[in-house]
Amino acid sequence: MLVVMEAHADAAKIEAVCAEIRAMGYVPHPMPGPTRTAIGITGNRGPVEQATRLQRMPGVAQLIRVTAPYKLVSREFHEGDTLVQVGQVVFGGPAVTVIAGPCTVETREQTLTIAHAVREAGATMLRGGAFKPRTSPYAFHGLGEEGLRILAEAREATGMPVVTEVMDVETLPMVCEYADMLQIGARNMQNYPLLRAVGRSGRPVLLKRGFAATVKDLLLAAEYVLNEGNADVVLCERGIRTFDDTLRFTLDLGAVPMIKQLSHLPVIVDPSHASGRWDQVLPMARAAIAAGADGLIVEVHHNPAFALCDGQQSLVPDRFVAMMEQVARIANAMERPMVL
Ligand code: PEP
Ligand code: MN
Repeated sequence: MLVVMEAHADAAKIEAVCAEIRAMGYVPHPMPGPTRTAIGITGNRGPVEQATRLQRMPGVAQLIRVTAPYKLVSREFHEGDTLVQVGQVVFGGPAVTVIAGPCTVETREQTLTIAHAVREAGATMLRGGAFKPRTSPYAFHGLGEEGLRILAEAREATGMPVVTEVMDVETLPMVCEYADMLQIGARNMQNYPLLRAVGRSGRPVLLKRGFAATVKDLLLAAEYVLNEGNADVVLCERGIRTFDDTLRFTLDLGAVPMIKQLSHLPVIVDPSHASGRWDQVLPMARAAIAAGADGLIVEVHHNPAFALCDGQQSLVPDRFVAMMEQVARIANAMERPMVL
């Protein structure tokens, strides 16, 4: 439920309504707007009883029922776009933001080489996995803390903030020591203890859509993070499983404008994992920006044939440069600047 206050309701009236909501056992979320304040209510399991009591309080203009199961992530609760800032990088503003880097941190030389190349081409944030969720227990699972140290060194060398995956609650404090942004991978999108823990960490979060998750599931997963008081969440469409196995996954681009309509959170697209083929990354990156995505996350490797993970979908640096040029042209047509 949303309590919309009158345009001239003063702070005392707003606080009185918040106090009443707390007294009912719910949580008030005052949201000052340009003309009036709205107060969102969470914590209720069904319709808010005693709503008529709120309706009659001084300064209250209107009560609006929020029908979506997610509240804090919804446009109904928060009309304007949320900007998520990571260092100097902003997601959800006018600019298109590109995150790039290797799938996996393999060696210091590999990561630094790729980091410099993507920075040169206009990427503003570095990706790289130190803890890798692999489908097979026999595959390479990343360098762990050594990988995080290498990412921190690459940040020093290039000035780019770093996003890296955190796989469990146990390693979260260690990942927080090094990462600027925490990635929750597709396989962990519904790991609710982890979502709560990254929410409490206060660190910006990149939440990837599970490949069997609906848009509603994704938004409810984000709701867990926001419900811990952390609104710095960027959503990522990375392809879902469908009947078609031509590509690794099916990139659900229709989800992008739909999520932008349902939620105020920024949305980016991962054309690398979605397609699983480097030759599909460029057209899907262009399409993602045309569909209104706020940015991209792309895998790049200078020697894909020898990559320890996902070489088949990694762009070599020259192709990444071409991608950035083409994406910049699409962004330009969408009247969105891209730092190049
Ligand atoms: C990744 O981005 O490194 C990754 C493993 O992606 P996803 O969780 O989307 O499969
Ligand atoms: Mn990968």
